[in-house]
Amino acid sequence: MAGAFETVIGLEVHSQLLTQSKLFCGCPARFGAQANEHVCPVCLGLPGALPVPNGAAVDMAMRAALALGCQVRTQSVFERKNYFYPDLAKGYQISQFALPLSEHGELSVEVDGATRTVSIVRIHMEEDAAKNIHGVGSGTDTLVDFNRAGVPLIEIVSGPDLRSAAEAEAYLRRLREVLMFCGVNDGNLEEGSFRCDANVSIRPVGQQQLGTRTELKNINSFRFVRKAIEYEVSRQKAVVSGGGTIVQETRTWLESSATTVSMRSKEEAMDYRYFPDPDLPPLQVDEARVDAVRAALPELPVDKRARYVATMGLTESDAGVMTGHPEIACYFEGVVSELCKQLGNGAKLASVGKRVANFIQSEALRYVQTEGLAASLPGAPEALAELLALVEDGTVSGKMAKSVFSDMVQSGRSARALVDEKGLSQVSDAGQLESVIRDVLASSPDNVAAYRGGKTGLLGWFVGQVMKATKGAANPKLANELLRKLLDEEA
Ligand SMILES: [Zn+2]
Repeated sequence: MAGAFETVIGLEVHSQLLTQSKLFCGCPARFGAQANEHVCPVCLGLPGALPVPNGAAVDMAMRAALALGCQVRTQSVFERKNYFYPDLAKGYQISQFALPLSEHGELSVEVDGATRTVSIVRIHMEEDAAKNIHGVGSGTDTLVDFNRAGVPLIEIVSGPDLRSAAEAEAYLRRLREVLMFCGVNDGNLEEGSFRCDANVSIRPVGQQQLGTRTELKNINSFRFVRKAIEYEVSRQKAVVSGGGTIVQETRTWLESSATTVSMRSKEEAMDYRYFPDPDLPPLQVDEARVDAVRAALPELPVDKRARYVATMGLTESDAGVMTGHPEIACYFEGVVSELCKQLGNGAKLASVGKRVANFIQSEALRYVQTEGLAASLPGAPEALAELLALVEDGTVSGKMAKSVFSDMVQSGRSARALVDEKGLSQVSDAGQLESVIRDVLASSPDNVAAYRGGKTGLLGWFVGQVMKATKGAANPKLANELLRKLLDEEA
């Protein structure tokens, strides 16, 4: 019966919200400070300290929920999730359980041309735990950094709707993109601000009931997501095919051995003894606030791609690159709009869009790290638009534009200043070019005679001479036209 199994995957994503301060206190929420610098009685869990919800975090959580088609509950409840661990000084985490902030959303992904619509069961708010740092001091000590304790998270729980590791990866990429374009998450898997746990099970094809699942942790890159799920599916198939049964447990991905290993038997919700936090009244959000957040939602990447293809003449692939990161999309749109402005009424959005996308792909993105992380595109959109306008009006060639751009990035100077200073302007003045060509013809009477005698293949040689005489600055199209004209008319 080997092979006659269906894979079932559901994902739980913890996404750190990009607020200035933590969820229940005023401590800074940003990554990168000295250990235990951003702490206070509330996030250290000292007795008697009272939490106060951060309104900006609630708005960001709603923005994510609405972008993912969820319904927002006007009254949700913060509960205590009780467990013991050194990174949890209070002995409980403030989360949401019975009444989460939002439910019933969905997200569609495409894999190999097929669309899978994945249900989003719920999105709830919770605080992050502190961070244990192992192997310090004598090498065996563990210290605790409380900077992360109390940082706001949303947990996004999908239904068990994914059927392969490839679909799981596609869903995560699409989810990360939505959160980043909404400005609620930085999408950083390595630093843990976007974390994923995968619930994986198998069942005989045709069976409705779900099989026993295992939960995979420590999959902090897209590559690991795929590898960990693929490994786990093959492990489960081997267990079942060998007559064994799957044990419900939490397993961790070990990149060093490319396997998953058991961490602990999987706890049930009842083990956490959830109950409403007596320090926090129910979280109320009225309809007007939900409507205001909905009205302020930005254009989502899937809609941007459709618009780039429909109105700017981009291919699907170009549009995908231009929406690879919110900053790339913003830069691209900025350059297009500025270039149209500089070129005036004659500029057609379709042709301009395509050329801007090509230039950004081949030149600008070389300066940006992959995956859009720490994207800092060189120069403001206006700076690149100025350079591309010089290409459009024939002042510089496309080839020269690349070296000018590189100089712009190095020096931070404007395209116009660099072109003027280095004398890079193409010679597009017909009178000026004609006198250069006359000199070239006068100095090569033999070749002129040969051309006029029928060896028209010499045209390329003449173009080369004109380029040499102008140090490459002649507008090649104009040089060609004028050469033909002068060689033919004086025959
Ligand atoms: Zn604090």
